[in-house]
Amino acid sequence: MEVKKLPAHVLTTIGIGSVYPVYFPENLEELKSILKSEKVYIIGGGSNTVLPEKIESKIVSLRKFKKIKIKRNSIILGAGVSLSEVLKLQIKENFSLFEIFAGIPRATVGGLVAQNAGAFGREIKDFLEKVVYLDLDSYEVATLKNFSSFSYRKSPFPKKGVVLETEFKIEKDNHVKEKIKKFVFFRLSKQPPFYLQTAGSTFKNPLGDSAGKLLDLVGMKGFKVGGVKFSEIHANFCINEKGSFEEFKKLISIAKERVKEKFNVELELEVKIPR
Ligand SMILES: Cc1cc2nc3c(=O)[nH]c(=O)nc-3n(C[C@H](O)[C@H](O)[C@H](O)COP(=O)(O)OP(=O)(O)OC[C@H]3O[C@@H](n4cnc5c(N)ncnc54)[C@H](O)[C@@H]3O)c2cc1C
Repeated sequence: MEVKKLPAHVLTTIGIGSVYPVYFPENLEELKSILKSEKVYIIGGGSNTVLPEKIESKIVSLRKFKKIKIKRNSIILGAGVSLSEVLKLQIKENFSLFEIFAGIPRATVGGLVAQNAGAFGREIKDFLEKVVYLDLDSYEVATLKNFSSFSYRKSPFPKKGVVLETEFKIEKDNHVKEKIKKFVFFRLSKQPPFYLQTAGSTFKNPLGDSAGKLLDLVGMKGFKVGGVKFSEIHANFCINEKGSFEEFKKLISIAKERVKEKFNVELELEVKIPR
């Protein structure tokens, strides 16, 4: 199995952390062998992950699970296929699917499913037909076709298993290129510029409220601990400016404390922090 030493800025969009060995299984057998023997963190594009400087888990990437097959009304996508690869294919083949996510850097199909990513009132579960995964109890390949266990930024994965392959409904759309452009421009107008290092929303929105709004009201916009701060543009986006994991942790604990004290709301992290 290929193992590469990769720095945090290559593995994650926020780029906090150090250098880690990363395992790239090529097939199911290699994946099973590493899962059976080690504590593992499955990493997708790292666009919702913050890595501590030292972690016990082995980092495993499904980058080599790259299957793409277009059917009549659906598409099969391997967990390691990137969002940008899908968007390019949508433009080439004129179908709608992930345009609402256009402009999110580096995300993969596995990560989008595991996080039940959503935007503009829609979530991944709304397009899903099937998830093929490696069950972590039985180590057998299983299929999920009912997505009632999915909710806001939550899915049974990776706890239940490793997403291997997915099938999504698609629809013919001759205007998909313009729609993709529109969503990218919309993101550019509301979120920090793409060249900044961030993991997207740090906290989930509390029921019926906006984490960004609450953080803004307790003065977190632009608030900095060492080299990590909350964006001046969007208070829920942490920006890394050569900061450390300790600084990130301190920053989020100050934010949580302030929101708890002022609004009695317990903010829950959206970003994933492997151990
Ligand atoms: C600028 C910016 C904007 C963003 N905007 C949005 C937005 O509008 N909406 C939104 O929902 N999110 C948004 N995000 C967050 C992020 O892009 C999504 O959560 C995305 O789904 C994460 O995908 P990933 O491949 O990068 O996952 P990673 O960060 O690598 O992993 C996230 C989680 O998925 C798990 N995982 C990854 N692959 C697999 C697999 N094959 N099997 C099982 N588990 C797996 C990981 O273990 C981890 O728990 C944004 C991020 C950025 C940086």
